[in-house]
Amino acid sequence: MSLIVQKYGGTSVKDLDRIKAVAERIKRTRDAGHQVCVVVSARGGVTNRLIADAKSLHPNPDKREMDLLLSVGEQETIALTAIALQSLGVAAVSRTGAQAGIHTDLFHTKARIVDIDGGDIKEQLDAGRVVIVAGFQGVNSAGQITTLGRGGSDLSAIALAGALKADVCQIYTDVDGVYTADPRIVPNARKLDEVAYDEMLELASLGSKVMQSRSVEFASKFNVVFEVRSSFNDNPGTLVKAETTLEDVVVRGVAADRNQTKVVVSDLPDEPGVAARVFQALAQAHVNVDMIVQNVGRDGVANLTFTVGNDDASSAEEAVATVLKEVGAGAVRAAENVAKISVVGIGMRSHSGVASKMFDALADSGVNIQMISTSEIKISVIVDLEKAEHATRVVHTAFGLDRDD
Ligand code: ASP
Ligand code: MG
Repeated sequence: MSLIVQKYGGTSVKDLDRIKAVAERIKRTRDAGHQVCVVVSARGGVTNRLIADAKSLHPNPDKREMDLLLSVGEQETIALTAIALQSLGVAAVSRTGAQAGIHTDLFHTKARIVDIDGGDIKEQLDAGRVVIVAGFQGVNSAGQITTLGRGGSDLSAIALAGALKADVCQIYTDVDGVYTADPRIVPNARKLDEVAYDEMLELASLGSKVMQSRSVEFASKFNVVFEVRSSFNDNPGTLVKAETTLEDVVVRGVAADRNQTKVVVSDLPDEPGVAARVFQALAQAHVNVDMIVQNVGRDGVANLTFTVGNDDASSAEEAVATVLKEVGAGAVRAAENVAKISVVGIGMRSHSGVASKMFDALADSGVNIQMISTSEIKISVIVDLEKAEHATRVVHTAFGLDRDD
C-alpha cells in the first residue's frame, strides 16, 4: 500500500460534473489499495472573481481581508469533493490549511510555508479515510489565515507530499504533461517522459506555464518527485525529478516568450557610473530586467539595450527618461515587437556546440538574432515577434525534438 498525494487544479474541479469525475478518479486510486490525500484548488475562475469583487470596492484592498476572502474558494472545493466521494460510498473528510497544520510566515497574500505538521491527516488516512486538503492556504503564528500566492495549490501539494513522505505526488491539470515546446506553436512537439527540476523551472518561467515556479523550487530543494498529468484522460504524464535517466539529451525543450520588450538607450555619455544610474532607476521602479547588452563606446557615447516584460515597458521607459534628463544626453526607445526564444537542457553543462547549432538553424531560415544571453542550461535569443513561431519550430527541428510520426 502506498500513500499518494493528488492535486487537482481549477479546471479539473471547475463544475460539479468535473468534481464528480475527480471523485471517481480518487475512488479508483483508493480501490487499488492506496491511501490518498488530495489537495484541491478553487473552482476555475473563482479566485479571479473574488479578487475583482474586492477591487471593485477598494483599489488596494487590505491583505489580511484578501486572504480571508480568497481562501473561501478552496474551502468550497474541499467540502464539495468530500461530499462527492461520500456519495460514492468512500469515507472522506476535508481539512483547511490550518487543520492540516500548514504553518506560514506573517506575509499576507504571498506567505511562505515555515512548517507542516500535517494535523491529523495520518490518523485519518490510517482510519481508512480519504483526506481532502484546501490548497493555497495556511495559517500564521497569529492564527490568521494566509495564502501562498497565485497558483499556490501546487506548493501546498508538493509541500504536503514532502511532509507526509508520500510515495507518489501527482499534479492533475488540463494538459497531459510537459512538452518539448508549446504544442499550439509546434504541432509536432513531444510530451516528455521525464524532465529535471531546473529544466522545468526554465521552461515554466519562459512561458510554458504548467506549474507555479515556487512549487518546483520547493520540490527541488526537498527532492519531492512529482508527476504532471491530465485529469481529463488516463495518459501517463511527465515525471519531474532531480536527474533524468536520459543524460544524452542535450536540449530538452524550446520555449518562446512573446511578452518581451526591447528598450534601446542610445547616445549615453560613455563614462563611469552612467549604466549604474540607469539600472538603479530601473530597480527603484521595480522593473525586472532580463537581458542586457552594451556596445563599445565610440566618440564618447555608448548604446545600452535591455529587455523587460511588456508589462514593465512603460515604467522602464519613464525611469530611463528621468535619468537621461539628469545626465542631459541620450534617447530612449521601447520596441514591443520582439520575442525571446530559448533552448533549455541540463545536458548543456557537459556538451558544446549547442549555440552554434541554434544560430545556424536560425540563420538558415533567415531569422535575425538581435540579442543573445546564456546560462549553464539555457541559451536565449531575441528575435522579431513576427518570426517567433517560425523560429521556435526551426530550432525545435534542429535539435531533433520533433515527434517521429
Ligand atoms: N486558487 C488559487 C489561484 O487561482 C490557487 C491555485 O489555484 O493554485 O491562484
Ligand atoms: Mg494552477
